[in-house]
Amino acid sequence: MEKKQLLYEGRAKQVYATNDPELLIAAYKDSRGTAAVPGRGAVNNRVSVCLMQMLEREGVPTHFVEQLSDRETVIRRAHMVPLKIVVRNVAAGSLCPRIGLPEGTRLHAAILEYYYRSASLGDPMINRYHAFELELCTPEELAVIDRYAFRINDILKPFLRGLGVDLIDFKLEFGRLSDGTIVLADEITPDTCRLWDAETGEKLDRDRFRRDPGGAKDVSEAILHRMTGGNFM
Ligand code: 5GP
Repeated sequence: MEKKQLLYEGRAKQVYATNDPELLIAAYKDSRGTAAVPGRGAVNNRVSVCLMQMLEREGVPTHFVEQLSDRETVIRRAHMVPLKIVVRNVAAGSLCPRIGLPEGTRLHAAILEYYYRSASLGDPMINRYHAFELELCTPEELAVIDRYAFRINDILKPFLRGLGVDLIDFKLEFGRLSDGTIVLADEITPDTCRLWDAETGEKLDRDRFRRDPGGAKDVSEAILHRMTGGNFM
């Protein structure tokens, strides 16, 4: 496969065209807008690959094809649905001031929210009627997205629990393949999740992992250690 021109550059990764019109290459960067952390790109690439493979095994289709190198992965070209899907298990972040729940309140059932991906509007929260009005997706597509989002939560929550980590909330993005199939796209890494220590409630930013299963110095490495038996570097 030949890597062609740069199509897109975001805070966390670059996306390149290839000689195959259906395939792209995602290249993870060490930086995320601010300071670079050496090795971060490789770890995030591996975490996203491992989690996508786990979700595929559990029946959630994703854009993942194969890992190409330490920081590059081949993905299927998808036409992105311009929505950020946020799933919440515990009140935190923007939810607390919006509906007046104290941070840390465990929700009776997972809450799903839609945000319209629009830089000029600042990614406003919208509801399904707004999404249909703007023709961001069809009702059928949104039904599939909802189902996958809850399913992903049901898979990730117990997996992370096994690491002593509470999955507070996370963000997903979906795309359409050329045949219209909805797949999970973008990335799932500790950069797109809010994670707290399950016992102490300590907020685990991505550079900290106190519980240290096998010498992991951050949450990403702990996830990798668990998924690969330590053979990830
Ligand atoms: P909140 O709405 O509380 O700020 O965010 C909810 C969850 O979605 C958090 O886990 C946050 O990390 C994730 N999230 C929402 N928008 C984005 C985004 O644009 N980029 C990333 N990486 N995560 C996001």
